[in-house]
Amino acid sequence: MLAACLFGILTRPVGFLAALWPANAVMLGLLIRFPKSAGLFGWAAAAAAYLVADLITGSSLQKAIVLNAANLVGVAAGYLVLRRVSEEVVSLRHSTAMFHLLFASAIAGAAAGLVGALANPLLFAGGAFEGWSFWFATELVNYVTFLPLILALPKAGDGGTGPERAVESRRWPNAAPALAVFASCLVAVLGGGPGAIAYPVPALLWCGLTYSVFRTTLLTAIFGCWTLIATGAGLYPHFIEPYDEKALVSVRIAIALVSMAPIMLASIMHGRNELLAELRHRASHDTLTGAANRSAFREAAERAFQAANASRSIMMIDIDRFKAINDSFGHATGDEVLVSFVGRVRNCLRNGDLLARMGGEEFAILLDAPGSRAEAVAIGERILDAVGERPVTLANGRTISVTASIGLAFSDDGCAGCVDSLLSEADAALYRAKQNGRNRIEFAASA
Ligand code: GH3
Ligand code: MG
Ligand code: MG
Repeated sequence: MLAACLFGILTRPVGFLAALWPANAVMLGLLIRFPKSAGLFGWAAAAAAYLVADLITGSSLQKAIVLNAANLVGVAAGYLVLRRVSEEVVSLRHSTAMFHLLFASAIAGAAAGLVGALANPLLFAGGAFEGWSFWFATELVNYVTFLPLILALPKAGDGGTGPERAVESRRWPNAAPALAVFASCLVAVLGGGPGAIAYPVPALLWCGLTYSVFRTTLLTAIFGCWTLIATGAGLYPHFIEPYDEKALVSVRIAIALVSMAPIMLASIMHGRNELLAELRHRASHDTLTGAANRSAFREAAERAFQAANASRSIMMIDIDRFKAINDSFGHATGDEVLVSFVGRVRNCLRNGDLLARMGGEEFAILLDAPGSRAEAVAIGERILDAVGERPVTLANGRTISVTASIGLAFSDDGCAGCVDSLLSEADAALYRAKQNGRNRIEFAASA
């Protein structure tokens, strides 16, 4: 908090309130992200940081108390609004999140403005309403600029859950939207005019479409900071009259409103991407066992078999006398056995091998480039051992012995498009394994 205050003070143009004042958003964000910090100690420590920052940079005690009362009143008002909303909203994972943030920021700004209405006549010899509105707009834009960044900042060790997210967190997928933001900010400051602050909007929306929520908040914050500095310092040509506070109020509100859109878009994209990933998963996996389904297996096999000259192997596995398990113990127990069976088979596979449920209690395995026929056979034998070595223990404590039969097809001549032939060879081998007494592995003629 002390660092955030000092940052705001040191970027404050002489005689003006700070245009950039991240401290209040930082405090509100921390209170929301770490609810334990919202106790007496947390508030007292933050109040001390605010005061110390002002006093060591030469403010009078009276001024420091009044200004920081405004800060704390604003943070408290924003906190009362935001602590009521769901975790999904405050982590900006919900499409309406930015509305909540805008509302909380406006309440916080309005509350801080009340102190501003008192402070302006007292400290700056201005009007009460002018004090309120200037304070309101400045607080609003600072909350909207910095609060999303604090709320969306990934937690330490939060690598995300899906493989897609892990990949995204390692690299910038595409630098073009970020570069477009910088370029449009540059064009805006060169061209100027009252509309210039909206020039970066398309680039920011591009960021919202392309990047994660956090990265979008980062670029939006950069836009907000830069535009606040540039407008406050009069860097735009043909813009507003210098020191026209009413115009500056309007500009600051506009910056806040422009900042909403890209983050809102990123939140919506996040929800959409999660939904798509879930749909994709459901469309390609069996809901009971989590194994891939038949169509996902076919697609994966066809893709894998396109590589020339690779060895290929498909196994068909069928649980032995499964119908008897269902008949004796019930369908629910049969389901439990299926789940346990899949767990045991998975433990025998390597990364890259694909297990799929082809239907009922029949499974297929696509081996990832088995080096040799012997390797494929060894995996098959390992599976039979793992399935049969000890009985399955059910949730109710009862145990059931399970065995399975395997048909294995292998080819090392790189046959293109031979998924079907290998599948039916493995199937025929499986049929023979059943006929020859079950709990065994049989090889297709080619294997
Ligand atoms: P075999 O050793 O010859 O394979 O004998 P089996 O009894 O396993 O043969 P069969 O293929 O005739 O039986 C499969 C049974 O699997 C029939 C069906 O009721 C049962 N089944 C299919 N899908 C499910 C499921 O999702 N859950 C449960 N509990 N049973 C299923
Ligand atoms: Mg069976
Ligand atoms: Mg069967």
